[in-house]
Amino acid sequence: MAVRIQSEWGTQVLFPAILKPASVKLYYCDNHVIPLPAGHKFPSEKYRLLRELLAADGRFEFEAAPLADPDSLAPAHDSEYIRRFLDGTIEPRLMRRIGFPWSPELVRRTLASVGGTLRATNDALLFGVGGNLAGGTHHAFRSEGAGFCVFNDIAIAIHGLLAKRRIARAAVVDLDVHQGDGTALLFAGEPAVLTLSLHGGNNFPFRKQRSSIDVDFPDGAGDAEYLAALERTLPRVFDFAPGIVFYQAGVDALQSDRLGRLALTQAGLRRRDEMVFQGCKERGIPVVVTLGGGYSQPIAATVEAHANTYRAAAH
Ligand SMILES: [Zn+2]
Repeated sequence: MAVRIQSEWGTQVLFPAILKPASVKLYYCDNHVIPLPAGHKFPSEKYRLLRELLAADGRFEFEAAPLADPDSLAPAHDSEYIRRFLDGTIEPRLMRRIGFPWSPELVRRTLASVGGTLRATNDALLFGVGGNLAGGTHHAFRSEGAGFCVFNDIAIAIHGLLAKRRIARAAVVDLDVHQGDGTALLFAGEPAVLTLSLHGGNNFPFRKQRSSIDVDFPDGAGDAEYLAALERTLPRVFDFAPGIVFYQAGVDALQSDRLGRLALTQAGLRRRDEMVFQGCKERGIPVVVTLGGGYSQPIAATVEAHANTYRAAAH
């Protein structure tokens, strides 16, 4: 597969024999530990467990994600919101909606989560695939966050690419069980970006936004219903001819998930991942993989499902 790179200097075609790295690099930010009260719903430990599980595979390289430059956030977010989050003067009401207590560690982890997606985006354009073991914070809006999401890493990355004209069009395939409402609203009316979200109709966010393509599932929907909907909608993503696909690969549609309300199996999620990667590969579209939700208890089922996504990406 040839890799097309669009830049200020035009389109270059590069071949994986030259560019393909020995292994896929994954960016992580679990080195920034955020202090949380006991019993908090955010599954902090899954990020480290996922990195350890993938490290045992021996086919990935790992790099601590650099902190995103605060200037890079500006096209997607309100400057006051950015400033007040960074300096800790953000209103408590806004932090309650995000769901984390403010701390300097949270600021560093949040910037690293965005930084990982930005680096993974660059890798995807060079090598065909890039991965962040964080990010996918799709409930973040222009001037507020929600549901453990402060800044919208995918929207930030896409704005950066469009501004530098590195791509003409981008698509977001959001398969987290919760609707990608922040991403949908941030790109509403933007003809260069297509957003697809498959999600539980009765789940958070209860006030849905409008993605380019939305699929709402009833509670208890399983593999057959889910995969049929994906098969129906993915061709519309590829028909859009995106220069890059951002795959928000949440695994909270898994049956064992405490928050998901759907009933997908591990095999169903593996098939889902294959469909996304196969489609991108056939068309030579670079793909950026980010994490998303996953709240099984014990957390091992979630970690296994996330690991399978990165394995499928590397394959
Ligand atoms: Zn979710």
